Amino acid sequence: MTPPASPLTPHALRGELRGNEPMSKHVSWRAGGVVDRAYRPADLDDLRAFLRTLAPEEPVYFVGLGSNLLVRDGGLRGTVIFTHWAFREIALGDVAENEGGIRVDAGVASPKVARFAAMHGLVGAEFLAGIPGTIGGALAMNAGCYGGETWNIVRKVVTVDHSGELHERSPAQYRIGYRTVVKRCNQIASVASAAAMKRRTGVEEWFVSAVLALPRGDGEDSRRQVKDLLSRRIASQPLGEPNAGSVFRNPPGTYAAKLIEDCGLKGRAVGGALISPKHANFIVNTGDARAADIEALIDLAQAAVKDKFGIELEREVRIVGEPQTQVREERGVRSEAQGPDQHEIPGGAQ
Ligand SMILES: Cc1cc2nc3c(=O)[nH]c(=O)nc-3n(C[C@H](O)[C@H](O)[C@H](O)COP(=O)(O)OP(=O)(O)OC[C@H]3O[C@@H](n4cnc5c(N)ncnc54)[C@H](O)[C@@H]3O)c2cc1C
Repeated sequence: MTPPASPLTPHALRGELRGNEPMSKHVSWRAGGVVDRAYRPADLDDLRAFLRTLAPEEPVYFVGLGSNLLVRDGGLRGTVIFTHWAFREIALGDVAENEGGIRVDAGVASPKVARFAAMHGLVGAEFLAGIPGTIGGALAMNAGCYGGETWNIVRKVVTVDHSGELHERSPAQYRIGYRTVVKRCNQIASVASAAAMKRRTGVEEWFVSAVLALPRGDGEDSRRQVKDLLSRRIASQPLGEPNAGSVFRNPPGTYAAKLIEDCGLKGRAVGGALISPKHANFIVNTGDARAADIEALIDLAQAAVKDKFGIELEREVRIVGEPQTQVREERGVRSEAQGPDQHEIPGGAQ
């Protein structure tokens, strides 16, 4: 019999299971607490087999490159599945006469998809070049920029549920909006306890792959657009310091960055977290930020904008897990774990 890949991995599984995995290693903010269990599947069959070993009530979170995610300092109860280790295939496939198809696994980095499309003379995926997550994360967030949005180019997706079953889904099966994607049958579940209902009805699903449909066009022009887009980002975003992109969605008709800047908050710090002097909708980790520092700045910006403009900023970044209470005679001197609280379920493909 083949031995399991790590001491914790149940027999017959080929991936790697770790306990108390620090999520700061897996999120772009480089801050936050541990998750009880983290699994790196070997491949799709292995993922399905792993999911079948979990108790139905075990909370499951899919994580791509962690570029839109913060785990609170008190940690996350449940199991995280990392997609970018195994789900990495990307290939061409025909969709229609004037369109090309790209079949892409959820763990492939979005910028790679932009380059792959341009290289093969398919246009319309350039915007993905500046989004430093996986395609799974882009599907979950309906990530976008400069007028492009992920679900505008999706033809179909494949999802997996808590019991390891695969489902092929079309965009019509989701309610898709600005940085939000909700599976339609979940609307009923949201009335009661969403998490409990999803587990009971088996409707909690996560993306494992997608087919994108893109018109054929001028690949050279696409490559030029990708280059331009990246230079614009380098000029306007604090890419040298750990961050998670835009913290807030832009409210209708205005920009979150402008509102925060107009409240005089550029350069405001809490612990090791700082509202970027370069872009006020970015919070950067200057070295030793805790998740609580970042969340305190988020709350502060939200309260200031509400107070000054009467506008409720909505968070774009996802925050999960449990907080810690801190006693701050001096910053970081002492901290005590708190009981479970505000256990937020990340959206995933729900
Ligand atoms: C410098 C910088 C610039 C950015 N610019 C942009 C931008 O221009 N536009 C934009 O939209 N975003 C931007 N982002 C945010 C982020 O990159 C995107 O939201 C990205 O799509 C997240 O992908 P990820 O793999 O990192 O997801 P993660 O951060 O790992 O996860 C984000 C959410 O998606 C869920 N998820 C992840 N994978 C799956 C899956 N396979 N199935 C179901 N759910 C899943 C997670 O549970 C979580 O709730 C930026 C971030 C940074 C750091």
